Amino acid sequence: MVKQVSLNMNVRGLGISATLGIKGKCRQLRTEGREVFDFGLGQSPFPVPRPMVEALRLAAPEKEYLPVKGLTELREAVAFFHRKKDMLNAYVERIMIGPGSKELMFILQLAFYGEIILPTPCWVSYLPQAKIIGRNNSLIHCLWENGWKLTAEQLDQLLVLNYPNNPTGGTYTGEELKGLSEIARKYNVIILSDEIYGQLHVEGGHISISRYYPEGTIISSGISKWCGAGGWRLGTFAFPPDLSWLMNAMATVASETYTSVSAPIQYGAIKAFLGGLEIEHYLSHIRRILALLGKQSYEILDNAGIRLISPKGGFYLFLDFSPFADKLVSRGIHSGHDLCDRLLEETGVAILAGNEFARSRSEYSARLSYVDFDGAAALLASENIPLDKPLPDDFTVHHCPRIIEGVSRIAEWVQS
Ligand code: PMP
Repeated sequence: MVKQVSLNMNVRGLGISATLGIKGKCRQLRTEGREVFDFGLGQSPFPVPRPMVEALRLAAPEKEYLPVKGLTELREAVAFFHRKKDMLNAYVERIMIGPGSKELMFILQLAFYGEIILPTPCWVSYLPQAKIIGRNNSLIHCLWENGWKLTAEQLDQLLVLNYPNNPTGGTYTGEELKGLSEIARKYNVIILSDEIYGQLHVEGGHISISRYYPEGTIISSGISKWCGAGGWRLGTFAFPPDLSWLMNAMATVASETYTSVSAPIQYGAIKAFLGGLEIEHYLSHIRRILALLGKQSYEILDNAGIRLISPKGGFYLFLDFSPFADKLVSRGIHSGHDLCDRLLEETGVAILAGNEFARSRSEYSARLSYVDFDGAAALLASENIPLDKPLPDDFTVHHCPRIIEGVSRIAEWVQS
């Protein structure tokens, strides 16, 4: 048998991605008959918009390998999408389609030679990807007092910025983005702006930093979150003119690895980026549902004394249990992982420890995803209530009961 020593040092000791791991744990507990509130995985509960499903159905016979950077019609649609929303220099030739933005980020880090800067808490995979490739990275630990956001004084080199943010649910204002872009320009920083939750801004008011820093911003997007199509595996990068060299290097890596994204999926995704009434209607409804759920969950947890910020987009809350530190220690809980294990054991609520988001092991923090509900049924119910009216407060109890019940259990647990 080939010995373990032939394993690349960079992957030694790394486990399966934490978000996928917790999904398996929840499944296991459910098969054992336990009631589980799965707030671990960051997956949209909503169905894929109908025009996309229809386009995918029609494209099933498409069987050719497509160009490595993506189908031209899709790249045109993505460029159109970004031009409409802040990135005025988005152009078909500088759009790259990949099998999920996660893979594009991986090959970006592979092609780029330099230091990667990550404000934390950050999405689970940035740091493991940098480690697998062996890239230098530096972490900037952001503070709850600043809404977990990076402030202009903290900025230094190549930066991965993600907003609306996974795991905090926070986003940046135009003023804050302007401040960051001035520093980025001064130090010639490339920004990878991960805007995969951009269309899930609670008020539809997402602003790209590309508006203020067009020459140095790459926008990462995709259909996994705002079109509920994570399993389709399609992500997009839009590059500014000065960074074409980086896109071309990534295309070389792509051509020697995955070749191109599945053809029918690319045809299906065109509709998402071209937009139109049906997509806008879908987005308005899911934003309205997520906004109410986020607000109510925030209020329950905030009232319980947990530190968190009111979510501005996406479907996450980042919980800081440090006000309960003494109590937790007396219960034998010494880390975020201990906290999540005990919470799952004692209440059935699964959340992911802050350590998975590049925070220290000892920090009592964790991410909650408020997605454990039947998104198709909730969408249908919302469609029966005119968009110019707010959803009634009890909408969530009827259509997303597990979220309210699970969040309330966290509040009771922490106070007990
Ligand atoms: N960035 C962030 C912040 C994410 O939350 C995710 C998915 N959880 C991704 C990127 C990757 O998405 P995908 O590969 O499905 O495009």
